[in-house]
Amino acid sequence: MSLFPELIDTHAHLDFPEYADQIPAVIERALQAGVSQIVTIGIDIETSRKAARIAEINATIHATAGIHPHGAFSLTVEALRELENIASAAKVVALGEIGLDYYRDTQPRPIQMECFTRQMELAVKIAKPVVFHIRNAWEDFFRLASQFAPSLAPSVMHCFSGDWATARRCLDMGFYLSIPGVVTFPKAESLQEVAKRAPLDRLLVETDSPYLAPVPYRGKTNEPAFVLHTARKVAECRKESLEKVAAQTTQNARTVFGIKAPMKE
Ligand SMILES: [Zn+2]
Ligand SMILES: [Zn+2]
Repeated sequence: MSLFPELIDTHAHLDFPEYADQIPAVIERALQAGVSQIVTIGIDIETSRKAARIAEINATIHATAGIHPHGAFSLTVEALRELENIASAAKVVALGEIGLDYYRDTQPRPIQMECFTRQMELAVKIAKPVVFHIRNAWEDFFRLASQFAPSLAPSVMHCFSGDWATARRCLDMGFYLSIPGVVTFPKAESLQEVAKRAPLDRLLVETDSPYLAPVPYRGKTNEPAFVLHTARKVAECRKESLEKVAAQTTQNARTVFGIKAPMKE
């Protein structure tokens, strides 16, 4: 048993080379920090397969499958079919991460939009939620998402990076906001405002491991155990207890991804 309240890290990349052969140790350190469950995220076909495999062999892990906007060119008809295959596994709980990234802009925008749209159609078809990766692409995102929102399962804005007005629009479309470790950075006032003002029943916490380690681990390799620091900062922003924030965000993660609490030994 952990000394800390229960948390779920809703976004980690456990298949990345940073964790090669270390997943059991990463899970163990997460458990020590109260992190009872982790959602590991695919960014292309290969990593989605790996994520699904990690979930299959680890009781406390669930997975997502999707093609990240940086790999938008790779979405062929065959890839889409394979994605549907991977995503049909019970422990693959969402399509993602998918979206639009006009900050890094590594792929032409029309190709990003096409890749995003095809995967949104798939999410509706298989009735699973989406994990969105959206950077500096809000108007195109809202335009495309609004076409799907009525038929889409409640979905997640991963590593939310917009201001409060943008957060409000996401909330109005029925989406959850997932707060990353960035919220602990001193200059992240805009994200701190979002963490403060959003309804607690629509917030999630995530690491985006191995990236974006929260203070006091900033600059180091992130891991799911560190989501505790993010939850603590969210609680501080809201002037609520860590216990309250942990309990509600954990319940939100289970609701949105349809995952059950782990069996108590
Ligand atoms: Zn992302
Ligand atoms: Zn990610």
